[in-house]
Amino acid sequence: MRKMKRLLHLGAALLMTLAVAVMAHAQARPLPGADLQRVYDRLLKQIDGIPIYDNHSHATFPDDSDMDAMASPPEESTVMRLREDNPEFVAAAKALFGYPYDDFKPEHAKWLIDKKKAAEASGTTTYWDSILDKMNIETCLANRVALAPYLDPKRFHWVFFVDSFLFPFDNHNQIAKNGDMGVYIPLQEKVLQRYMKQESVNGLPADLGGYEAFVRQTLADNQKKGGVAMKFEAAYFRTLFFRDPPREKVEAIYAQFHAGGVPSEQDYRTFQDYVFRVLIDQAGKLHLPVHFHSAVGIGDYFSLRNGNPLNLENVLRDPRYSKVNFVLIHGGYPYTLDMIWLTARKNVYTDSSLMGYYVYPSELKNILKQWISLFPEKIMFASDAFPFNDAVGAEETFWLAARSARTAVAAALAELVSEGAFTEEKALELARLYLHDNAAKLYGEKK
Ligand SMILES: [Zn+2]
Repeated sequence: MRKMKRLLHLGAALLMTLAVAVMAHAQARPLPGADLQRVYDRLLKQIDGIPIYDNHSHATFPDDSDMDAMASPPEESTVMRLREDNPEFVAAAKALFGYPYDDFKPEHAKWLIDKKKAAEASGTTTYWDSILDKMNIETCLANRVALAPYLDPKRFHWVFFVDSFLFPFDNHNQIAKNGDMGVYIPLQEKVLQRYMKQESVNGLPADLGGYEAFVRQTLADNQKKGGVAMKFEAAYFRTLFFRDPPREKVEAIYAQFHAGGVPSEQDYRTFQDYVFRVLIDQAGKLHLPVHFHSAVGIGDYFSLRNGNPLNLENVLRDPRYSKVNFVLIHGGYPYTLDMIWLTARKNVYTDSSLMGYYVYPSELKNILKQWISLFPEKIMFASDAFPFNDAVGAEETFWLAARSARTAVAAALAELVSEGAFTEEKALELARLYLHDNAAKLYGEKK
């Protein structure tokens, strides 16, 4: 009898083991189970402990003109979540600084502004390191015209701008196109002047060969100064579709316009298409990843069609550039599904910057769920932290982006676990890829 009982027990245990094994290998279900909230809570706790590698930010004090090679045109419309009355910004200031008020009325905001001004006046690098520490951000790429003395180069790595090389000629027609270009192009001219000064180039070189040498040398020198990637904001100025014009044609255009005269739209475009390819080629030679703004953009005249990342397909899939790592910033938003399929190519990556604070975490969760389900080794977290005004700074947007991404990726993974796609252990591995490891690997840093 006792033997029988023991056998029954054994049988039950065996059945249980079998049931667990079957569950673990069952087909994924389209709906999460009742354990969703518990899985989410467990995952989020672990995910909060993962140090972040931020693929794209504008870490800066608000009055630093080196923060970007661009500026916002005056009439831009702002998405709902980024408007000044978003209560999440108050939550950010409370979490980061213990901000004692519940709004940003000028007499209250002064408390925050004074704190930040004092940090800026101190002139040390400890302030921005401490901001990263508060959000468990380990490393952060900083898009800037030049790296700032107040950013610790161990934590903040420089991404420099290269669009200015596309605008060396008389830009009157470009500037006259619309109000946005009237703001953007003079700033590009300034950056080009700065690069020319840096390289001791007085006036544009006499021929195209000289100009190409100047372009290539500037990239090499910026890399030596600490640049880890180069960035195109070209989608703000023109289409991301770049043709492949013959050099002779471009040589003639350069010869005609380098010393003056306004090129036709077509000639300027042909010149830019060629110089773009010089930049990409040099990036490959220097092993410098190439970042593109590829998404919606600010301004009143931004063209969604021109900024659609599918325009880059001929470049991304060109075997001549198979050694160039392309990083398509901002997830191509709103074309996020097109974007993840572009990353099917081995040297193409994307990140969740900008869209991570354009949409709320529930929507970011949906996008990340789709991305993770397709090419989880090609996606990276990025904050696009940026100062909105003297009170709400890059600090608060770092917080908003980091909190949103940690909760959204935890939710996306919790759903997939609860639906039976994979285990919690696998989910944490995927979270680490997104928040840290993919970027660390791309920029050549050990885990
Ligand atoms: Zn940005």
